[in-house]
Amino acid sequence: MHEASILFCRRSIILLILLLFPARLPAFDFTLHKQQGAQPGPTLLIVGGIQGDEPGGFNAAALLATRYRVQRGNLWVVPNLNFPSILQRSRGIYGDMNRKFDTLPESDPEYHQIARIKQIIMDPQVDLVFNLHDGSGFYHPEQINRLRNPNRWGQSCIIDQSRLPDTRFGNLEELTRETIQRVNTAALSPEHQFHLKNTRTAAGDIEMQRSLTYYAVRNNKPAFGIEASKSFSTPVRAYYLLSALEAYMEQVGLRFSRDFALTPQGIKQALSENVRVSFGGGRIQLELKDLRPTLNYFPLPKAAAIDFSSNNPLVAVLPYRDRFRIHYGNHRLSFLKPQYFAYDQSLTGIKMLIDGVDRDVKFGTTVPVDNNFLVRGKKGYRVNVIGFQKSGRRNESDLQIAKPQIAGSFSIDKSGNLFRVEVYRQNRFSGMVLVDFRRQTARKGPLVAQAMAGEQRAAEHEN
Ligand SMILES: [Zn+2]
Repeated sequence: MHEASILFCRRSIILLILLLFPARLPAFDFTLHKQQGAQPGPTLLIVGGIQGDEPGGFNAAALLATRYRVQRGNLWVVPNLNFPSILQRSRGIYGDMNRKFDTLPESDPEYHQIARIKQIIMDPQVDLVFNLHDGSGFYHPEQINRLRNPNRWGQSCIIDQSRLPDTRFGNLEELTRETIQRVNTAALSPEHQFHLKNTRTAAGDIEMQRSLTYYAVRNNKPAFGIEASKSFSTPVRAYYLLSALEAYMEQVGLRFSRDFALTPQGIKQALSENVRVSFGGGRIQLELKDLRPTLNYFPLPKAAAIDFSSNNPLVAVLPYRDRFRIHYGNHRLSFLKPQYFAYDQSLTGIKMLIDGVDRDVKFGTTVPVDNNFLVRGKKGYRVNVIGFQKSGRRNESDLQIAKPQIAGSFSIDKSGNLFRVEVYRQNRFSGMVLVDFRRQTARKGPLVAQAMAGEQRAAEHEN
């Protein structure tokens, strides 16, 4: 109980700070990602993250926004509708957002987000609306057991009514039955079968009358809820949500491609690879996979608010006491302990000798190194290879450096392969390049990997 009240206190303080200094914090409004196919076709609006603790839904939507290409028709994706709740791992920090679509007082903290998503739903271009969820257990039309019964939501496609008369794609039940058949053909196990759930909302389901899909339906927009079971891991949930969406998309004539395999393994990889965050207008860029829990002396620009960007709509960097924390969906990844600098804008990159080959390397990039690297000196600029030992110099340019000369505990990744090379002009920070020894480590085989693991444990101990 004591712990809970401390937690509550901390939340109130954060809330208070949010209220007092709105301008100091970046806005966490939801984002709308629009894709237009070369050929005309229907426009689908797909919403994820209406509840912040349903990672299957918001991760599936993020994959749609970032890893799908549309050839015919248009794909509009809101992957992070309740972004503040996603970042707090809460179903809804201001209550259940999916019950705010009927009437809502202007005093509600989410009033403006609701008004904005309503406006997007009502855009004349939008033909179909999908709301992605993770639901408890397994919906079944009959009572089977505690987990499988009519009151559960998982593994179902939800419609508010069978049809929307005189509306294009208004055959809600027909489209959904075909979708369910296709999903079940590709189910990973017979236990995972999807079912149709018709909530017959207009007939008196007061709860559902306040939902997003019913808002769409009562405005003559075909709308569907898709629920994957919370009994599964996030990649398996996303697998079912995307399988169902693809079945709907194929039926209404939206043509698309994606750059990953639609399997739990393919999705797991797609969710973890190549997710990046950058700072200082791209002068620093980190890949989030395998990042250490804390990065010390991180050169951030002197500014009122932290300025970051990411190629993934579920990434945010939030202040946390005297540090910043990188969030990715429901995951809290790493702390950045900042060291503040004025930024030098006079350079966009450096000249390096990588394994004996001259290269121009832009700030914010990661360069693979097999054996050694050297940063070409430039008058007026100072190079700092973080963790480089015993140089006895202030400027580490024009030195050939191999991996054993850098202390493993200074890597930015847990595996000890990625190191920071920072460039300064007097007291100003010019930019960062990452040198990447992952390829070298992979080639050296299991013996070295074992030694690395030992080194890694020692490094962690120091932290
Ligand atoms: Zn939900």
